[in-house]
Amino acid sequence: MTIVYDVHDGLYINLTNRCPCACTFCLRQTMDTVGQSGGLWLEHEPSLEEVKQAIDGVDLKHYAEIVFCGFGEPTERLDTLLQTAAYIKQVCPDKKIRINTNGLGDLVNGEPIAPKMRGLIDVVSVSLNTPNAEKYLKLTRSKFGAQSFDAMLAFAESAGEQGIEVVMTTVDTTISHEEEAQCQAICDRIGARYRIRPWED
Ligand code: SF4
Repeated sequence: MTIVYDVHDGLYINLTNRCPCACTFCLRQTMDTVGQSGGLWLEHEPSLEEVKQAIDGVDLKHYAEIVFCGFGEPTERLDTLLQTAAYIKQVCPDKKIRINTNGLGDLVNGEPIAPKMRGLIDVVSVSLNTPNAEKYLKLTRSKFGAQSFDAMLAFAESAGEQGIEVVMTTVDTTISHEEEAQCQAICDRIGARYRIRPWED
């Protein structure tokens, strides 16, 4: 099973297949892999030791960044994620660490999680998807329901307050230019960088 895989110049870490969402656009519905990753469906969730072993099997120097991103929401395994980040900082202190997240980690874990990320996570990339809370719920089908959009924004804002760089993304061609302008305004208010990304990025 694939625990770590390469995407462009990043090393990606696949911790879990759990996710509180069932996004209408999720790659998992139509694919088993991303690029040359190999299968991203996990036989079991890798233990911290298995993740460390997988990381020890590659040369971290060759990667521009380490990214927690797989076929699931990485903050579903917050403890393992943070312990893995601490290990990477120990063996390769200057390596940039990013989490690609749906931003619902506070709801998943039942507490604000950004303070725990301070000093371990350098960047969070949060899927904003749309500037509209109702449309967000229709797109993500989050199990947390109507509170999800505001919780996602609150997480993004609190990550910024912890000194973490926050990037918020929408997918090109999926929303109008007017909606993109609204997303830009949300990012400006929160202090995040707005990025419109290609679908399979
Ligand atoms: S949050 Fe990500 S992993 Fe979860 S369903 Fe949506 S696109 Fe898929």
